[in-house]
Amino acid sequence: MDRDKLYAARLLAARQRPYLATALFALHVVASPETPTMAVDPHWRCYVSPAFVDRRTLDDLAGVWVHEVSHLLRDHHGRGDAYAREHGADGPGERLRMNLAADAEINDDIYDAGLPRPSDAVCPENLGLKSGEVMEYYLRRFRVGPRLQRLAWIDCGSGADGRARSWDLGPDGAHGLTKQERDAVRFRVAHGIVGAPGSAPDGWKRWAEQVFHPPQPWRDLLGSAMRSAVTAAGVGEDYTYGRPSRRASSLPGVVLPSLRRHPPSVCVIVDTSGSVSDRELGSALLEVTAIGRALSGRRDLVTVMSCDAAVPVVGKLCHAEGIALIGGGGTDLRAGFTVALKRRPDVIVALTDGQTPWPSARPAARTVIGLFPRKRWTAMPEWARVVRIEG
Ligand SMILES: [Zn+2]
Repeated sequence: MDRDKLYAARLLAARQRPYLATALFALHVVASPETPTMAVDPHWRCYVSPAFVDRRTLDDLAGVWVHEVSHLLRDHHGRGDAYAREHGADGPGERLRMNLAADAEINDDIYDAGLPRPSDAVCPENLGLKSGEVMEYYLRRFRVGPRLQRLAWIDCGSGADGRARSWDLGPDGAHGLTKQERDAVRFRVAHGIVGAPGSAPDGWKRWAEQVFHPPQPWRDLLGSAMRSAVTAAGVGEDYTYGRPSRRASSLPGVVLPSLRRHPPSVCVIVDTSGSVSDRELGSALLEVTAIGRALSGRRDLVTVMSCDAAVPVVGKLCHAEGIALIGGGGTDLRAGFTVALKRRPDVIVALTDGQTPWPSARPAARTVIGLFPRKRWTAMPEWARVVRIEG
């Protein structure tokens, strides 16, 4: 293999993207005729096809170096595994989608400025989607169709999607980085980006911020709070005469009401006072309605109410999602609770920054509060489960 050419390309990549230099030089090269192009594994080995090195220009190779190391810095294999667990979606087809979605996350801002964009690079536009988003966003929005099959450059290895490849040396093979070494590389790169603002694109700046302040798993917390509210004793139980109870046979001639569970209904109260930003609200609201729908199994059982219907973004979001928006009053969430409780929901979820008075008595519905972080907020009621929603 022409290692001189390959290493010259790495040096060029490091010159063009100095903030990635530590990571580029941390990769261990393994010549691998079996690999179609260049691929990485989670242990920071980079498998390179000798024929590919011969075929491509120095500039092209420099771009591929930056691309491959980006998969590892951004932990695409770990995030691919997490996505697979969360959605029960595994197998080669799903992993290929992960590779493509990860490529779309990387490719929208790593080329140009000294590195040419390869003609076959997968970009959000190839998937028919907008740029500037992350792998998980893209994964929810495209399928692998014939249009994508002509994209030849799609195998970035197990470091891109978590699926083991035949050429992988595995955790015990030579020259792999330990977990501590991988963390050190990631931390050093992030430190360089945060310390020299202006040098890296916005996508990398956001990434570096997250290395230092990993987001709280509020989605998980919110999901489990809502699940436990919905499965609590008494929720969804109804006495009905519609169907004979099993005990009926032992008491001939007497019709007893039977206990029947109905799917839980969820009411979301949204605090749209000016102190909550549209961005905060957007992701939290989508998350809550998605969880609510998954729990109820029927979209008509999730209602969203706004405490200030004049804020357009909520109206739009709700409209797009097909959720009826019921007007509330002012920025006092107590009014929202009063209206919500008239619909007799099983669970109320309030999304708020906490700058509101709360009902003084426990409402007749299990309550989860999704709280946006503020320096100060009023005391939370003891009858609610509180989940802090970060970033
Ligand atoms: Zn890739």
